[in-house]
Amino acid sequence: MAHNLKLSDHFSRDDFACTCGRCHKEFRMSLGLVGIVEHLQHRFKQKVTINRAYVCEEYSKSLFASNKDYHHMGKAVDISIANIPLEDIFKEVEAMPEVTGIGFIPQTQQIHIDLRDKDREIWLEERDEKLTLSPQKRQQYNLN
Ligand SMILES: [Zn+2]
Ligand SMILES: [Zn+2]
Repeated sequence: MAHNLKLSDHFSRDDFACTCGRCHKEFRMSLGLVGIVEHLQHRFKQKVTINRAYVCEEYSKSLFASNKDYHHMGKAVDISIANIPLEDIFKEVEAMPEVTGIGFIPQTQQIHIDLRDKDREIWLEERDEKLTLSPQKRQQYNLN
């Protein structure tokens, strides 16, 4: 049995490993992202739930049509925090300049966070569609 390596105060390797159930918990994760999740836990004083972090190659193919999967690159997490409104998490993440990809996903109550090596992108997902987070949408979801 593999040792569940501790990565930070509150998180271990298994929290970030692939959950497909077929690949024996493959794992690859940017330590910068572990630090961001740890920061959020300290900031909100609540357990951060990591719904998806690393995704192995086979699982990535089945989940995402595009090959630009930052989860598979070990550079993305989807999180939620019990008792904390999604808009509060979003605003906190948006204020962190090192985060270059932010997806606001109200349907599943999750925030996607990634560390892409290019200009920052912020989007909204509604019914599995990726939309621009327009001023109107920001107002609708109380993100200002
Ligand atoms: Zn897998
Ligand atoms: Zn994601």
